[in-house]
Amino acid sequence: MTKEEIREILRMPEKQFREEILPAAREVYREKDNTLYGMALLGYSNICRNQCLYCGMRAGQKITRFRLSVEDILDSARIARESGFSRIFLISGEDPGYGYEHLLKAVEGIHGLGFQEISLACGEFDADQYDELKAAGATEYVIKYEMGQKEVFDRLNPSTNFEKRMKAIENVKKSGLNLASGNIVDYPGQTEDMLLEDIALMQELDISWAPIVPYMPAKGTPLAMGADGVPAKPGERLKILKEIAIMRILMPEIRITAQQPGDDLSKGLATEEGNLDALMAGGNILFCDLLPVAQAKNFHVVDNRELKGIEHFKKMAELSGMKLSL
Ligand code: SF4
Repeated sequence: MTKEEIREILRMPEKQFREEILPAAREVYREKDNTLYGMALLGYSNICRNQCLYCGMRAGQKITRFRLSVEDILDSARIARESGFSRIFLISGEDPGYGYEHLLKAVEGIHGLGFQEISLACGEFDADQYDELKAAGATEYVIKYEMGQKEVFDRLNPSTNFEKRMKAIENVKKSGLNLASGNIVDYPGQTEDMLLEDIALMQELDISWAPIVPYMPAKGTPLAMGADGVPAKPGERLKILKEIAIMRILMPEIRITAQQPGDDLSKGLATEEGNLDALMAGGNILFCDLLPVAQAKNFHVVDNRELKGIEHFKKMAELSGMKLSL
């Protein structure tokens, strides 16, 4: 698709999009793979030194912080493996107190449990650290550029900067790890041209997974409060569906997050409505949270985060006509 064709989809009325584009995107994936990937997800530390203006886990937010030991990570991973998962996703804030050596040990241990895929999202590291994580058994690294415009990135992510983030992304690629990256969709101030640039950047980076989500205001964060005192609105659901469908048509083989909200944000990210819509637009990954409920509630990048388990995956696979793979 040309940039102008993508623009046309972004401007399309919902009815036309649902009748023409959404089925086309679903068909692309039906022919390619048609697998729904269920992944075990473990947020092992919600401590973060950074101050991203949109994030509910930013340093200074009043949430109960926790950090799992390597032993606890391995215990959870073992349970996931015994439940049939062969893919695991470890995620954390940028927690300087965790100790890179501990992360490396956790990855080695998880690799030893026989996981096929180990994806990590633990922040910006040096080039040799990504190399070591790969050598320890990691297969993919999630590092989002969030927004592809330097000035906007630097304003919304004051603890780092765009050059540093893009350098980290380049280093992930150089290490041989698969790169998962993408944007936030429809945050306050994002224009159509910015969204087009963000979509083009995913293609340019040749990502393995588009971990894309709509903007969901997190209570107490500067972006949610709005510069003029008017609370920010959540990203439009139609926009994220359109981006999923566009990405599926542009990159038929990648993974795309299907864990998306429905119309009622208070119901979290694992509603039938939101997930099924995303699967029918070309999404193909759902997550099963390994944390106990109390800790999961405090893993709080967005409000009302709630993930479901394997029964939900089975139902979604059946309703979407996809085959399930853990
Ligand atoms: S987005 Fe990530 S790096 Fe930024 S504050 Fe949140 S947890 Fe920390």
